[in-house]
Amino acid sequence: MRIGVPKEIKTLEFRVAATPGVVHRLVAEGHEVFVESGAGAGVGLGDAAYAEAGATVLPTAEAVFEAADLIVKVKEPQAVEIARLKPRHTLFTYLHLAADPDQAKGLMASGCTAIAYETIVGPRGGLPLLAPMSQVAGRMAVDVGAVALLRPGGGRGMLLGGAPGVPPAKVVILGGGVAGKHAAEMAIGHRADVTLFDISAPRLEELDDQFDGRLKTAFSTPDAVREAVIDADLVIGCVLIPGAAAPKLVKRADLAKMKPGAVLVDVAIDQGGCFETSRPTTHADPTYVVDGVIHYCVANMPGAAPLTSTYALGAATAPYLMALANKGVDQAFADDPGLAAGLNVAGGRVTYAAVSEALGLG
Ligand code: NAD
Repeated sequence: MRIGVPKEIKTLEFRVAATPGVVHRLVAEGHEVFVESGAGAGVGLGDAAYAEAGATVLPTAEAVFEAADLIVKVKEPQAVEIARLKPRHTLFTYLHLAADPDQAKGLMASGCTAIAYETIVGPRGGLPLLAPMSQVAGRMAVDVGAVALLRPGGGRGMLLGGAPGVPPAKVVILGGGVAGKHAAEMAIGHRADVTLFDISAPRLEELDDQFDGRLKTAFSTPDAVREAVIDADLVIGCVLIPGAAAPKLVKRADLAKMKPGAVLVDVAIDQGGCFETSRPTTHADPTYVVDGVIHYCVANMPGAAPLTSTYALGAATAPYLMALANKGVDQAFADDPGLAAGLNVAGGRVTYAAVSEALGLG
Protein backbone atom coordinates (compact mmCIF):
# COMPACT_ATOMS: atom_id res chain seq x y z
CA MET A 1 0.00 0.00 0.00
CA ARG A 2 1.06 3.63 -0.51
CA ILE A 3 1.12 5.35 2.90
CA GLY A 4 1.51 9.10 3.48
CA VAL A 5 2.75 10.91 6.60
CA PRO A 6 2.14 14.67 6.28
CA LYS A 7 3.55 17.26 8.70
CA GLU A 8 1.00 18.25 11.37
CA ILE A 9 -0.24 21.79 10.81
CA LYS A 10 -2.56 22.44 13.75
CA THR A 11 -1.28 25.35 15.89
CA LEU A 12 1.41 24.27 18.39
CA GLU A 13 1.20 20.61 17.32
CA PHE A 14 4.69 19.08 17.17
CA ARG A 15 3.91 15.35 17.15
CA VAL A 16 4.34 13.17 14.06
CA ALA A 17 2.13 10.17 13.25
CA ALA A 18 4.87 7.67 12.39
CA THR A 19 8.45 7.36 13.63
CA PRO A 20 11.25 6.07 11.38
CA GLY A 21 10.95 2.75 13.26
CA VAL A 22 7.35 2.34 12.12
CA VAL A 23 8.26 3.44 8.59
CA HIS A 24 10.98 0.79 8.54
CA ARG A 25 8.46 -1.91 9.50
CA LEU A 26 6.04 -0.79 6.78
CA VAL A 27 8.75 -0.73 4.13
CA ALA A 28 9.97 -4.17 5.23
CA GLU A 29 6.44 -5.48 4.55
CA GLY A 30 6.66 -4.16 0.99
CA HIS A 31 4.75 -0.88 1.38
CA GLU A 32 5.74 2.50 -0.02
CA VAL A 33 5.86 5.33 2.54
CA PHE A 34 5.82 9.02 1.63
CA VAL A 35 6.83 11.48 4.37
CA GLU A 36 6.54 15.25 4.08
CA SER A 37 9.85 17.04 4.55
CA GLY A 38 10.06 18.35 8.13
CA ALA A 39 7.25 16.07 9.41
CA GLY A 40 9.38 14.92 12.35
CA ALA A 41 11.28 18.15 12.95
CA GLY A 42 9.18 19.05 16.03
CA VAL A 43 10.53 16.00 17.84
CA GLY A 44 14.05 16.04 16.37
CA LEU A 45 13.40 13.38 13.70
CA GLY A 46 15.04 14.69 10.54
CA ASP A 47 14.28 13.85 6.92
CA ALA A 48 17.49 11.79 6.77
CA ALA A 49 16.19 9.40 9.46
CA TYR A 50 13.02 8.79 7.43
CA ALA A 51 14.96 8.34 4.19
CA GLU A 52 17.27 5.87 5.93
CA ALA A 53 14.18 3.94 7.12
CA GLY A 54 13.14 3.61 3.48
CA ALA A 55 10.63 6.45 3.09
CA THR A 56 10.44 8.77 0.12
CA VAL A 57 10.65 12.30 1.51
CA LEU A 58 8.47 14.71 -0.48
CA PRO A 59 8.68 18.51 -0.32
CA THR A 60 5.00 19.32 0.23
CA ALA A 61 1.84 18.00 1.84
CA GLU A 62 0.12 18.16 -1.57
CA ALA A 63 2.69 15.73 -2.95
CA VAL A 64 2.18 13.33 -0.01
CA PHE A 65 -1.63 13.30 -0.39
CA GLU A 66 -1.19 12.87 -4.15
CA ALA A 67 1.21 9.92 -3.78
CA ALA A 68 -0.53 8.01 -0.98
CA ASP A 69 -3.81 6.13 -0.51
CA LEU A 70 -3.61 5.71 3.29
CA ILE A 71 -2.93 8.97 5.15
CA VAL A 72 -1.79 8.66 8.76
CA LYS A 73 -1.89 11.73 11.01
CA VAL A 74 -2.12 12.81 14.65
CA LYS A 75 -4.67 15.63 14.82
CA GLU A 76 -7.96 15.98 13.00
CA PRO A 77 -7.52 17.22 9.41
CA GLN A 78 -7.55 20.98 8.99
CA ALA A 79 -9.64 22.57 6.20
CA VAL A 80 -6.71 22.69 3.78
CA GLU A 81 -6.05 18.99 4.38
CA ILE A 82 -9.71 18.01 3.97
CA ALA A 83 -9.62 19.75 0.59
CA ARG A 84 -6.85 17.34 -0.48
CA LEU A 85 -8.79 14.16 0.42
CA LYS A 86 -10.24 12.08 -2.42
CA PRO A 87 -12.63 9.09 -2.36
CA ARG A 88 -9.62 6.74 -2.78
CA HIS A 89 -8.07 7.98 0.49
CA THR A 90 -8.28 6.29 3.87
CA LEU A 91 -7.54 8.73 6.71
CA PHE A 92 -6.27 7.30 10.02
CA THR A 93 -6.03 9.86 12.86
CA TYR A 94 -7.78 11.45 15.88
CA LEU A 95 -11.03 13.00 14.61
CA HIS A 96 -13.26 13.92 17.61
CA LEU A 97 -16.07 14.57 15.11
CA ALA A 98 -18.98 14.81 17.57
CA ALA A 99 -18.05 18.38 18.45
CA ASP A 100 -16.88 19.40 14.98
CA PRO A 101 -19.70 19.55 12.40
CA ASP A 102 -17.61 21.46 9.84
CA GLN A 103 -14.97 18.75 9.79
CA ALA A 104 -17.66 16.06 9.55
CA LYS A 105 -19.26 17.81 6.57
CA GLY A 106 -15.88 18.21 4.90
CA LEU A 107 -14.98 14.54 5.35
CA MET A 108 -18.39 13.44 4.05
CA ALA A 109 -18.04 15.68 0.99
CA SER A 110 -14.54 14.35 0.27
CA GLY A 111 -15.84 10.79 -0.12
CA CYS A 112 -12.87 9.45 1.85
CA THR A 113 -12.88 6.66 4.44
CA ALA A 114 -12.02 8.14 7.85
CA ILE A 115 -10.98 5.95 10.79
CA ALA A 116 -10.80 7.66 14.19
CA TYR A 117 -8.17 6.60 16.73
CA GLU A 118 -10.47 7.52 19.61
CA THR A 119 -13.29 5.08 18.82
CA ILE A 120 -11.17 1.97 18.18
CA VAL A 121 -11.88 -0.66 20.84
CA GLY A 122 -9.16 -3.00 22.12
CA PRO A 123 -9.38 -6.80 22.27
CA ARG A 124 -10.06 -6.57 26.03
CA GLY A 125 -12.32 -3.51 25.71
CA GLY A 126 -11.12 0.00 26.50
CA LEU A 127 -9.88 2.58 24.02
CA PRO A 128 -6.27 1.61 23.25
CA LEU A 129 -5.47 4.64 21.09
CA LEU A 130 -6.85 7.11 23.63
CA ALA A 131 -5.11 5.46 26.58
CA PRO A 132 -1.52 6.54 25.75
CA MET A 133 -2.50 10.21 25.86
CA SER A 134 -4.35 9.72 29.18
CA GLN A 135 -1.19 8.06 30.52
CA VAL A 136 0.92 11.04 29.45
CA ALA A 137 -1.60 13.59 30.78
CA GLY A 138 -1.96 11.75 34.10
CA ARG A 139 1.79 11.66 34.64
CA MET A 140 2.21 15.25 33.54
CA ALA A 141 -0.57 16.44 35.88
CA VAL A 142 1.66 15.76 38.87
CA ASP A 143 4.62 17.62 37.33
CA VAL A 144 2.59 20.72 36.48
CA GLY A 145 0.82 20.56 39.84
CA ALA A 146 4.15 20.31 41.67
CA VAL A 147 5.49 23.39 39.86
CA ALA A 148 2.29 25.38 40.48
CA LEU A 149 2.53 24.48 44.18
CA LEU A 150 5.93 26.22 44.43
CA ARG A 151 5.93 29.93 45.35
CA PRO A 152 7.06 31.15 41.89
CA GLY A 153 4.10 29.18 40.46
CA GLY A 154 1.75 31.13 42.73
CA GLY A 155 1.23 28.14 45.04
CA ARG A 156 1.56 27.55 48.75
CA GLY A 157 5.32 27.17 48.44
CA MET A 158 5.66 23.53 49.33
CA LEU A 159 7.34 20.43 47.94
CA LEU A 160 5.11 17.48 47.11
CA GLY A 161 7.38 15.18 49.08
CA GLY A 162 8.01 17.55 52.00
CA ALA A 163 11.44 17.14 53.62
CA PRO A 164 12.85 15.11 56.52
CA GLY A 165 10.86 16.32 59.52
CA VAL A 166 8.28 18.17 57.38
CA PRO A 167 5.14 16.34 56.19
CA PRO A 168 4.50 15.85 52.45
CA ALA A 169 1.75 17.54 50.45
CA LYS A 170 -1.73 16.02 50.43
CA VAL A 171 -2.66 15.03 46.88
CA VAL A 172 -6.25 14.10 46.02
CA ILE A 173 -6.95 12.35 42.70
CA LEU A 174 -10.53 12.22 41.44
CA GLY A 175 -11.07 9.26 39.08
CA GLY A 176 -8.86 6.17 39.08
CA GLY A 177 -8.94 5.22 35.39
CA VAL A 178 -5.96 5.46 33.06
CA ALA A 179 -5.01 9.09 33.82
CA GLY A 180 -5.76 8.81 37.54
CA LYS A 181 -3.66 5.69 37.99
CA HIS A 182 -0.68 7.29 36.26
CA ALA A 183 -1.07 10.46 38.31
CA ALA A 184 -1.10 8.33 41.47
CA GLU A 185 2.11 6.56 40.42
CA MET A 186 3.92 9.85 39.90
CA ALA A 187 2.60 11.49 43.07
CA ILE A 188 3.65 8.48 45.13
CA GLY A 189 7.05 8.64 43.40
CA HIS A 190 7.33 12.20 44.76
CA ARG A 191 6.56 10.80 48.25
CA ALA A 192 3.31 12.78 48.50
CA ASP A 193 0.40 11.66 50.70
CA VAL A 194 -2.02 10.43 48.00
CA THR A 195 -5.75 9.65 48.18
CA LEU A 196 -7.65 8.51 45.07
CA PHE A 197 -11.45 8.60 44.71
CA ASP A 198 -13.53 6.54 42.26
CA ILE A 199 -17.15 5.42 42.05
CA SER A 200 -16.21 1.92 40.87
CA ALA A 201 -15.67 -0.60 43.67
CA PRO A 202 -13.87 -3.12 41.42
CA ARG A 203 -11.54 -0.39 40.17
CA LEU A 204 -10.72 0.72 43.73
CA GLU A 205 -10.00 -2.89 44.65
CA GLU A 206 -7.71 -3.28 41.64
CA LEU A 207 -5.78 -0.11 42.52
CA ASP A 208 -5.60 -1.08 46.17
CA ASP A 209 -3.95 -4.36 45.11
CA GLN A 210 -1.62 -2.73 42.59
CA PHE A 211 -0.30 -0.06 44.94
CA ASP A 212 0.10 -2.41 47.87
CA GLY A 213 -0.74 0.07 50.62
CA ARG A 214 1.07 3.10 49.17
CA LEU A 215 -2.19 4.64 47.88
CA LYS A 216 -5.25 5.50 49.98
CA THR A 217 -8.41 4.65 48.02
CA ALA A 218 -11.87 6.03 48.76
CA PHE A 219 -15.40 5.85 47.38
CA SER A 220 -16.36 9.03 45.58
CA THR A 221 -19.36 10.61 47.30
CA PRO A 222 -19.98 14.37 47.24
CA ASP A 223 -19.34 14.75 50.99
CA ALA A 224 -16.17 12.63 51.07
CA VAL A 225 -14.73 14.43 48.03
CA ARG A 226 -15.54 17.90 49.45
CA GLU A 227 -13.90 17.08 52.78
CA ALA A 228 -10.73 15.76 51.11
CA VAL A 229 -10.51 18.65 48.63
CA ILE A 230 -10.75 21.27 51.40
CA ASP A 231 -7.84 19.61 53.17
CA ALA A 232 -5.75 19.04 49.99
CA ASP A 233 -2.69 20.88 48.65
CA LEU A 234 -3.06 19.49 45.11
CA VAL A 235 -6.23 18.08 43.52
CA ILE A 236 -6.04 16.29 40.16
CA GLY A 237 -9.32 15.75 38.27
CA CYS A 238 -9.31 12.62 36.04
CA VAL A 239 -12.95 11.50 35.99
CA LEU A 240 -14.67 10.34 32.84
CA ILE A 241 -18.21 9.24 32.12
CA PRO A 242 -17.84 8.06 28.51
CA GLY A 243 -19.71 10.24 26.04
CA ALA A 244 -20.96 12.64 28.75
CA ALA A 245 -19.77 15.94 30.17
CA ALA A 246 -17.57 15.51 33.26
CA PRO A 247 -19.46 15.72 36.57
CA LYS A 248 -18.62 18.86 38.60
CA LEU A 249 -17.10 17.37 41.73
CA VAL A 250 -15.66 20.60 43.20
CA LYS A 251 -18.09 23.48 43.56
CA ARG A 252 -17.24 27.17 43.46
CA ALA A 253 -18.29 27.53 47.12
CA ASP A 254 -15.69 24.91 48.16
CA LEU A 255 -12.79 27.05 46.91
CA ALA A 256 -13.10 29.64 49.68
CA LYS A 257 -12.68 26.83 52.23
CA MET A 258 -9.53 25.48 50.54
CA LYS A 259 -5.99 26.49 51.59
CA PRO A 260 -4.84 29.66 49.79
CA GLY A 261 -2.31 28.65 47.15
CA ALA A 262 -3.67 25.12 46.80
CA VAL A 263 -3.69 23.81 43.21
CA LEU A 264 -6.40 22.23 41.04
CA VAL A 265 -5.27 20.41 37.86
CA ASP A 266 -8.26 19.54 35.66
CA VAL A 267 -7.17 16.80 33.26
CA ALA A 268 -10.85 16.20 32.43
CA ILE A 269 -11.14 19.71 30.95
CA ASP A 270 -11.45 18.24 27.44
CA GLN A 271 -14.81 16.82 28.60
CA GLY A 272 -15.86 20.14 30.15
CA GLY A 273 -13.85 19.82 33.37
CA CYS A 274 -14.72 18.38 36.80
CA PHE A 275 -14.31 21.59 38.82
CA GLU A 276 -17.13 24.14 38.57
CA THR A 277 -14.59 26.96 38.09
CA SER A 278 -12.59 25.27 35.28
CA ARG A 279 -12.22 26.85 31.86
CA PRO A 280 -9.85 25.63 29.13
CA THR A 281 -6.36 27.17 29.08
CA THR A 282 -3.37 26.77 26.76
CA HIS A 283 0.30 25.91 27.27
CA ALA A 284 1.07 29.57 26.56
CA ASP A 285 -0.93 30.68 29.62
CA PRO A 286 -1.82 27.52 31.54
CA THR A 287 -2.99 28.77 34.95
CA TYR A 288 -5.37 31.26 36.54
CA VAL A 289 -6.52 31.91 40.10
CA VAL A 290 -10.05 31.80 41.57
CA ASP A 291 -10.55 32.57 45.28
CA GLY A 292 -6.81 32.08 45.90
CA VAL A 293 -6.78 28.59 44.33
CA ILE A 294 -4.52 27.99 41.29
CA HIS A 295 -6.27 26.32 38.34
CA TYR A 296 -4.38 24.45 35.56
CA CYS A 297 -6.80 23.45 32.77
CA VAL A 298 -4.83 22.78 29.56
CA ALA A 299 -6.97 20.78 27.14
CA ASN A 300 -4.08 19.23 25.16
CA MET A 301 -1.56 18.44 27.88
CA PRO A 302 0.40 15.83 25.82
CA GLY A 303 1.15 18.54 23.25
CA ALA A 304 3.79 19.90 25.66
CA ALA A 305 5.64 16.58 25.56
CA PRO A 306 5.58 15.81 21.82
CA LEU A 307 8.63 13.57 21.94
CA THR A 308 7.21 11.26 24.62
CA SER A 309 3.73 11.50 23.10
CA THR A 310 4.92 10.68 19.56
CA TYR A 311 6.53 7.44 20.70
CA ALA A 312 3.66 6.53 23.06
CA LEU A 313 1.03 7.15 20.37
CA GLY A 314 3.13 5.58 17.60
CA ALA A 315 3.58 2.36 19.55
CA ALA A 316 -0.19 2.13 20.11
CA THR A 317 -1.20 2.92 16.52
CA ALA A 318 1.48 0.77 14.83
CA PRO A 319 -0.29 -2.63 15.04
CA TYR A 320 -3.46 -1.11 13.56
CA LEU A 321 -1.52 0.73 10.86
CA MET A 322 0.27 -2.51 9.95
CA ALA A 323 -3.07 -4.37 9.77
CA LEU A 324 -4.63 -1.70 7.51
CA ALA A 325 -1.58 -1.65 5.26
CA ASN A 326 -1.05 -5.41 5.06
CA LYS A 327 -4.68 -6.52 4.71
CA GLY A 328 -6.45 -3.51 3.27
CA VAL A 329 -9.31 -1.79 5.11
CA ASP A 330 -12.06 -4.35 4.41
CA GLN A 331 -10.10 -7.43 5.50
CA ALA A 332 -8.57 -5.62 8.49
CA PHE A 333 -12.09 -4.64 9.66
CA ALA A 334 -13.41 -8.17 9.07
CA ASP A 335 -10.57 -9.64 11.17
CA ASP A 336 -10.84 -7.10 14.01
CA PRO A 337 -14.26 -5.67 14.97
CA GLY A 338 -12.46 -3.37 17.44
CA LEU A 339 -10.60 -1.72 14.55
CA ALA A 340 -13.84 -1.58 12.55
CA ALA A 341 -15.32 0.42 15.46
CA GLY A 342 -12.91 3.17 14.43
CA LEU A 343 -14.80 3.80 11.18
CA ASN A 344 -16.45 7.22 11.45
CA VAL A 345 -17.00 8.31 7.83
CA ALA A 346 -17.34 6.30 4.61
CA GLY A 347 -19.00 6.78 1.24
CA GLY A 348 -20.10 10.31 2.08
CA ARG A 349 -21.85 9.34 5.34
CA VAL A 350 -21.07 9.43 9.05
CA THR A 351 -21.12 5.75 9.99
CA TYR A 352 -20.53 6.01 13.75
CA ALA A 353 -23.92 6.13 15.52
CA ALA A 354 -22.94 8.32 18.50
CA VAL A 355 -21.26 10.86 16.23
CA SER A 356 -24.17 10.90 13.82
CA GLU A 357 -26.55 11.43 16.74
CA ALA A 358 -24.40 14.20 18.27
CA LEU A 359 -24.33 15.98 14.91
CA GLY A 360 -28.09 15.61 14.46
CA LEU A 361 -27.65 13.51 11.32
CA GLY A 362 -30.23 10.97 12.46
P1 NAD B 1 -10.98 6.41 32.25
O1 NAD B 1 -12.31 6.03 31.69
O2 NAD B 1 -9.85 5.45 32.15
O3 NAD B 1 -11.15 6.76 33.82
C1 NAD B 1 -12.17 7.57 34.32
C2 NAD B 1 -12.48 7.13 35.74
O4 NAD B 1 -13.36 8.10 36.33
C3 NAD B 1 -13.18 5.78 35.84
O5 NAD B 1 -12.43 4.89 36.67
C4 NAD B 1 -14.53 6.13 36.46
O6 NAD B 1 -15.04 5.12 37.31
C5 NAD B 1 -14.18 7.40 37.23
N1 NAD B 1 -15.32 8.22 37.62
C6 NAD B 1 -16.44 8.53 36.91
N2 NAD B 1 -17.24 9.32 37.64
C7 NAD B 1 -16.60 9.55 38.83
C8 NAD B 1 -16.92 10.29 40.00
N3 NAD B 1 -18.08 10.97 40.12
N4 NAD B 1 -16.02 10.31 41.01
C9 NAD B 1 -14.86 9.64 40.91
N5 NAD B 1 -14.51 8.90 39.83
C10 NAD B 1 -15.38 8.86 38.81
O7 NAD B 1 -10.61 7.81 31.61
P2 NAD B 1 -9.13 8.36 31.32
O8 NAD B 1 -8.60 7.78 30.07
O9 NAD B 1 -8.33 8.24 32.58
O10 NAD B 1 -9.44 9.89 31.03
C11 NAD B 1 -9.80 10.78 32.07
C12 NAD B 1 -10.07 12.16 31.47
O11 NAD B 1 -8.83 12.73 31.03
C13 NAD B 1 -10.97 12.14 30.22
O12 NAD B 1 -11.84 13.23 30.25
C14 NAD B 1 -9.98 12.30 29.08
O13 NAD B 1 -10.58 12.82 27.91
C15 NAD B 1 -9.05 13.28 29.74
N6 NAD B 1 -7.76 13.52 29.05
C16 NAD B 1 -7.36 14.80 29.02
C17 NAD B 1 -6.16 15.14 28.43
C18 NAD B 1 -5.72 16.58 28.45
O14 NAD B 1 -4.78 16.91 27.73
N7 NAD B 1 -6.32 17.45 29.25
C19 NAD B 1 -5.36 14.14 27.84
C20 NAD B 1 -5.80 12.82 27.88
C21 NAD B 1 -7.02 12.51 28.52
